[in-house]
Amino acid sequence: MNKTPLPSVVTAGLDLPAPLVISPTEHPVSIKDIDSDALMVLRRLHEAGFAAYLVGGGVRDLFLGKTPKDFDISTSAKPGQVKKVFRNCRIIGRRFRLAQVFFGGGKIIEVATFRRPGENDIGGDDVVLPSNNSFGNPAEDAFRRDLTINALFYDIEHSTIIDYIGGVKDLEDRVVRIVGDPERRITRDPVRMMRVIRHAARADFQVEPATWEAICRHKDKLSLCPVSRIRDELFKDLKGGASSAWFKLACDSGLFHVIFPFYEKVLVEHAEAAMYMKNMAQNLEVSDRLAGEGQTLPDGLLMALVLLPWAETEMDFAAVSTQRDAYVLSRSIRDNLVEMFGKLNIKRSMQDDIARSLATLPLLHKHDNDDKAWPKWLQKKSYFKSGMQLFQLAREAGGGDPAHLPFAAPEPAAVKKSGSSNFRQHAPNGGHRGPAFALNTKGGVFGFRN
Ligand code: ATP
Ligand code: MG
Repeated sequence: MNKTPLPSVVTAGLDLPAPLVISPTEHPVSIKDIDSDALMVLRRLHEAGFAAYLVGGGVRDLFLGKTPKDFDISTSAKPGQVKKVFRNCRIIGRRFRLAQVFFGGGKIIEVATFRRPGENDIGGDDVVLPSNNSFGNPAEDAFRRDLTINALFYDIEHSTIIDYIGGVKDLEDRVVRIVGDPERRITRDPVRMMRVIRHAARADFQVEPATWEAICRHKDKLSLCPVSRIRDELFKDLKGGASSAWFKLACDSGLFHVIFPFYEKVLVEHAEAAMYMKNMAQNLEVSDRLAGEGQTLPDGLLMALVLLPWAETEMDFAAVSTQRDAYVLSRSIRDNLVEMFGKLNIKRSMQDDIARSLATLPLLHKHDNDDKAWPKWLQKKSYFKSGMQLFQLAREAGGGDPAHLPFAAPEPAAVKKSGSSNFRQHAPNGGHRGPAFALNTKGGVFGFRN
């Protein structure tokens, strides 16, 4: 591969090597595959005299021949300057200001100014991550990113990939590696551990050994991060279409039990732990199948599916034979969820949905009869629909008929949608938009009791 080194880069506090510039004939990314609105944003920034590149997951996914979920842009323009270039633009974020350029249909292209790594990402004591709002240059922007495969820049003017950190080699070798010293980068922002596992699962890549060892060593530090960040990352893991592979890596590294400590009883200590592990993986495979077909499960249903092995072992499903029993069970599940979701900021209505669909399951099993329609009284119940959805997912997971109820409209590709959610919204991704740590997590990340 013909890779031309650029002149060496000198930056404050960092001794950065010169990047490799990979020519268009030497990489698979084509400008044709870049979203037309993202191209327009890049061109307008260039016309206004700024440097601007496609960065992050967009370059990674195009390199791998996948359709990116979103196209993020990094530029030398400061947020206020970006706003002047685009009328359809707003600036968000307090700790890290970022411009969002709006297009039809709720589509958003995020434009971030080159940033340098937080001071504590590159040196100093092992203390919590400080606020980082210092602007930088492209090299620094590459080094502040989480993974080498997420740190590539695509230059639309020359159709080249600019690689400061060896991300192209890692893409070719199918390796997920934390940028810089994994110990330090994880200690400074433990959510990066989740991001490693997500991308390894999604791309079916190996985690580089030093990165993996650092995760296994520091897994408990995840509890130091605010629940909102963990929750957002978790739902991305569960919805990304590779949740079953994610589950395996999360268990092997121990991260799963940091997120869900109550699952230790079921998936490690239980006499039938191996069976429940398998059940969970099979549940998630169904969700992955649906995600692959463009059907993302609603958050509540997804969480009910994840909680199913726990509910089966810890809740008395066998005691349910009447509506009244199902109601009592749903109250009992709900009581357990309250503690967890109090911190998760999940709407009460969704907690009710989770509890009801789990508690309806034994009732549906009881009345499941291939030859007959569901009893009319059951069909009329408000909980029938969500219960049926979970029932169908569990049935497919157990080797039965495929789940076929409509779950949710497919998400359009390569578009960031603003819209409603069951969770209170906070700043979108691309960096840190809130406190990176919160020491309020007794009883596990979500506050579940052991
Ligand atoms: P996805 O396909 O899930 O969107 P992504 O890599 O684009 O994957 P985003 O959450 O959209 O993930 O983040 C965009 C980019 O911001 C990443 O590619 C990465 O370079 C950077 N990034 C995100 N989170 C962090 C973090 N915690 N530390 C450092 N860099 C991060
Ligand atoms: Mg992204």
